[in-house]
Amino acid sequence: NAPLTEVDPEIAEVLQRELNRQRGFLEMIASENFVPVSVLQSQGSVLTNKYAEGYPGRRYYGGCEEVDVAEELAIARAKELFGAEFANVQPHSGATANAAVLHAIARPGDTILGLSLDHGGHLTHGMKINFSGRLYDIVAYGVDPETSLVDMDEVRRLALEHKPKVIIAGWSAYPRQLDFAAFRAIADEVGAYLWVDMAHFAGLVAAGVHPSPVPHAHVVSSTVHKTIGGPRSGFILTNDADLAKKINTAVFPGQQGGPLMHVIAAKATAFKLAATDAFKDRQERTVRGAAILADRLMQQDVTDAGISVRSGGTDVHLVLVDLRDAAINGKEAEDLLHEIQITVNRNAVPNDPRPPMVTSGLRIGTPALATRGFGDAEFTEVADIIALALLPGADVTALRARVAKLADAFPLYPELEQVGQG
Ligand code: PLP
Repeated sequence: NAPLTEVDPEIAEVLQRELNRQRGFLEMIASENFVPVSVLQSQGSVLTNKYAEGYPGRRYYGGCEEVDVAEELAIARAKELFGAEFANVQPHSGATANAAVLHAIARPGDTILGLSLDHGGHLTHGMKINFSGRLYDIVAYGVDPETSLVDMDEVRRLALEHKPKVIIAGWSAYPRQLDFAAFRAIADEVGAYLWVDMAHFAGLVAAGVHPSPVPHAHVVSSTVHKTIGGPRSGFILTNDADLAKKINTAVFPGQQGGPLMHVIAAKATAFKLAATDAFKDRQERTVRGAAILADRLMQQDVTDAGISVRSGGTDVHLVLVDLRDAAINGKEAEDLLHEIQITVNRNAVPNDPRPPMVTSGLRIGTPALATRGFGDAEFTEVADIIALALLPGADVTALRARVAKLADAFPLYPELEQVGQG
């Protein structure tokens, strides 16, 4: 049982270099965050050794008394946090949670109506070569080309025409809040299930800075690692007892074998932290930071360069930048920001004239920097840095120095030195 540095120095170096990268760069990928040290401890714990197929009190393996406590805590805290009657905390990821949801409420061949991938939907909402697109008959709604908003009249028209079994409300790249009550009214009108995938905005919901889909949806799925900032994993909520049974069966044995008990323990801690005032403050800074960024990117110098903000702003933790009329494309913008040590991802805009590996857009998010401690002043500074970086003739050296100053002022994981991981 020698330490990693001795057993496998190559991997130990990867860990060290990645920690350095996370410390030195400003992380603005909208789906990323930094877990607290308490979450790292559970994920790196002996719970990874335990098989626990089944559910607390009904396992197919002996010796589950301790992991049962962890899973019961995670379930109780998820229910409390989101005001739901039932929670399944076993999905290994957002994608497996979504596979279980469809397994529970639809049969292969059923029609599913969701937001199309190139308008901000997720792979599991019906992309052609994803399981969702292969198993189900997919109908997609898009966003209005003028406003970049989901048009509920269009959703209703498609629902009435195609009579889907499931309507999906949720997104990976959309800067506004969805009208869950309107989605539910349409679902009820056509006899469909409403499934909300809140993977991106779950942390905002937990903090009360975004409306909750739980009272409106038949089923809600989520990840834990985006705005919530917990371990990489998923969970599913419902208020319907029959659906709860179907969801449990769909997760295990329908989709998964043994649950990742170390991750489930870390989820319990993440849900506990998400009920605190500090978490609410962080989500408020996240949303304000995104608004500050959107405002800066709509100022004259930026719009003069042909750069615009889709939907004219944001209500959530991310901003979508439209580069269709700019000199720079999505790939070049991503690379340029990487050069000044800001990490973002390029993102297709609807009807993007450029190929998916290039794109004409950027998705920029604020959750990880809010976790790092950024408030209005720092977001104002980072917004100005990004704006100037995207303009022709940017002074890369000067901008990189401004980024380094921000990164140095907010040290990441200073505790890790003390536990020998820094
Ligand atoms: N659902 C949505 C809306 C997402 O944005 C994502 C991830 O990007 C997922 C599900 C899938 O989560 P995971 O990457 O954990 O499988």
